[in-house]
Amino acid sequence: MREQFLVFGSPQIQQAEIEEVVDSLKSGWLGTGPKVKQFEEDFAKYKSTPYSAALNSCTAGLHLSCVALGLQPGDEVITTPMTFCASVNAIIHSGATPVLADINPKTFNINPVEIEKKITPNTRAILPVHFAGRPCNMDAIMTIAQKYNLALIEDCAHAIETEYKGAKAGTFGDFGVFSFYVTKNVITGEGGMIISSDEERISRIKVLGLHGMSRHAWQRFSDSGYKHYFVHEAGYKYNMMDIQAAIGIHQLKRVEQNWLRRQEIWQRYNEAFADLAIDLPADIEPDTRHAYHLYSILVDEARTGISRDRFLEAMTAEKIGIGVHYLSIPEHPHYQKTFGWRPKDYPHAMKVGRETVSLPISAKLTDGDVEDVIAAVYKILKN
Ligand SMILES: *Cc1c(COP(=O)(O)O)cnc(C)c1O
Repeated sequence: MREQFLVFGSPQIQQAEIEEVVDSLKSGWLGTGPKVKQFEEDFAKYKSTPYSAALNSCTAGLHLSCVALGLQPGDEVITTPMTFCASVNAIIHSGATPVLADINPKTFNINPVEIEKKITPNTRAILPVHFAGRPCNMDAIMTIAQKYNLALIEDCAHAIETEYKGAKAGTFGDFGVFSFYVTKNVITGEGGMIISSDEERISRIKVLGLHGMSRHAWQRFSDSGYKHYFVHEAGYKYNMMDIQAAIGIHQLKRVEQNWLRRQEIWQRYNEAFADLAIDLPADIEPDTRHAYHLYSILVDEARTGISRDRFLEAMTAEKIGIGVHYLSIPEHPHYQKTFGWRPKDYPHAMKVGRETVSLPISAKLTDGDVEDVIAAVYKILKN
């Protein structure tokens, strides 16, 4: 057995990030400044999109996207039950009502057929999540959005490197929203980014993200003299700091190199687990690019003789950190109480949520770490 616990999703931090953060600290400019601007430009370039706004989280970005669409109480936004709670909470905090549409059990992505069943006269938007970095069926989703005149917010928290038929994830809809949380593919500690092809929308997002003020604070105190600011609407405090962007700038430079490493680990797992009685991630659809953010297996007690939760405990005992992405949204008491949602009404998301286990797939893993994960899975499932 390993000596050291393998922390799930531990980020790969290198000297370049460390030096850039120290540079920010020494410059005295910690808040939103030139490094945020550079990170926004670098990210927009990577996504082949003209406009971007850096924020302090993806959750903030999802919330501002809903606010910027002008959603009102009574408006409905359709999203997936197989996501992190932030996708749903962002809709709630904008005043709109979330509506769930079940997933495709193979891809774990929202099923367009289920979306169409949930459309009412109050539906205003669709908020799909590219689960694990696998692109949603965007042809079908765009067709529905156009047919019913719906806005589209893509939750791209897993999907920085994702592509669908030659187009990059986050460029299909009104807004694409990304996360740089510590376990994600590019990290800033906490952080997020919104991209859009609409310049006015991104300027509105920037105003909303900093109290509704007309000028960025970092321009207020520049050497060109003090400038008054005016508050145009009651905004939020969602701006990214230069210290965060300092990390992101160098992380983004390694995004493709790290993607290749995760692809290697993904293929090694596929090979190693081929003869086990567990479901592995579905094959990657032609003409798409998977971001390899999560490697999820399904542990079905009827086939393996061990429950998912006992498998989690056994992996932890083998000193392998694992994750669960995710218990389906209707499993949580708040949503049951507020919306009357029940897990069995979304049977595919319920089943995945109760059987899924995410194995470590960070670019930081050594070949030895990967073999330790494989050995632990074998030991537990062959016993
Ligand atoms: C991580 C995550 C978020 C939230 O990202 P933060 O940057 O932590 O706010 C939202 N949606 C999904 C699907 C996520 O995985």
